[in-house]
Amino acid sequence: MKKVLFIDRDGTLIKEAPPTYQLDDFSKLEFYPDMFYYLRRIAEDLGYELVMVTNQDGLGTASFREESFWPLHNLVMKSLENEAIKFTEVIIDRTLPAENAPTRKPGTALLSKYMNDPGYDLQNSYVIGDRITDMQLAKNLNCRGLWLNTGAALGQTGISETIEDLRKKIVVLETSRWSDIYHYLKLPPRIVNHQRNTNETKIRIALNLDGSGKADNNTGIPFFDHMLDQVARHGIIDLAITCIGDLHIDEHHSIEDTGIAFGEAMVKALGDKRGIERYGFSVPSGRQVLPMDDCLAQVAIDFGGKELDRLGNFI
Ligand SMILES: [Mg+2]
Repeated sequence: MKKVLFIDRDGTLIKEAPPTYQLDDFSKLEFYPDMFYYLRRIAEDLGYELVMVTNQDGLGTASFREESFWPLHNLVMKSLENEAIKFTEVIIDRTLPAENAPTRKPGTALLSKYMNDPGYDLQNSYVIGDRITDMQLAKNLNCRGLWLNTGAALGQTGISETIEDLRKKIVVLETSRWSDIYHYLKLPPRIVNHQRNTNETKIRIALNLDGSGKADNNTGIPFFDHMLDQVARHGIIDLAITCIGDLHIDEHHSIEDTGIAFGEAMVKALGDKRGIERYGFSVPSGRQVLPMDDCLAQVAIDFGGKELDRLGNFI
């Protein structure tokens, strides 16, 4: 499934030009700080299709002539292309706000292709823009919003939600920096709730890999809880495990199944494992990397997903 970044132009890729907000002269052109650097990394590393969506009020009329728009726009597009930032489509609405046209952001009439094609995964797509109308567009597209909020005027036509509702339900990041957008897209919050139920154990896990080390573990085995608390504390993850197990028999089902469920929760939280690196060796040769006072204890976990045969060899 294809994921899309619907990206605004004015105020997002290039600075806005008050008081007219009409970018019709090269003297008004200023690219948004750090945009090239981070948008290139997004384009090259993260697998999103890029679609530009921009309102250009009255383009083609006497108030905004074509010959004033295209030279500047073409330079913007060429500059992006030269930095390996390629948009698959550039959607320009030319209507005026007073016309209240369905083609004008936050209307979606020009974006029906993306809404109707099941090959697009809009729930995992984003709108990036500087206006609250961009966040309303995200709502209308059923995707999420990355608000590059530079304090642009908020009163806009076509808004059906309150700003606070959009902040709560649609905006997953509000920032004035492209670096924050890159880091968010590279590594969205890795939080899962996981359950595993068998005849022997009933396990609930809440895990946040980007937490702060908070632990709340209750397996019925105090020393095991203590060990799990150390995983949370030293791994700087939030971990809450509840296990109701058949301790009247002994402890092994509870410990074994908690390990299995914790591993399952880890796999879910890691998702596509973006942002982590894989190493071929974990035992340092010649010198120890992080010895404690008198010992070096090591646990090596391979998240690569390879299967082992009965002799422990990779298949
Ligand atoms: Mg804008």
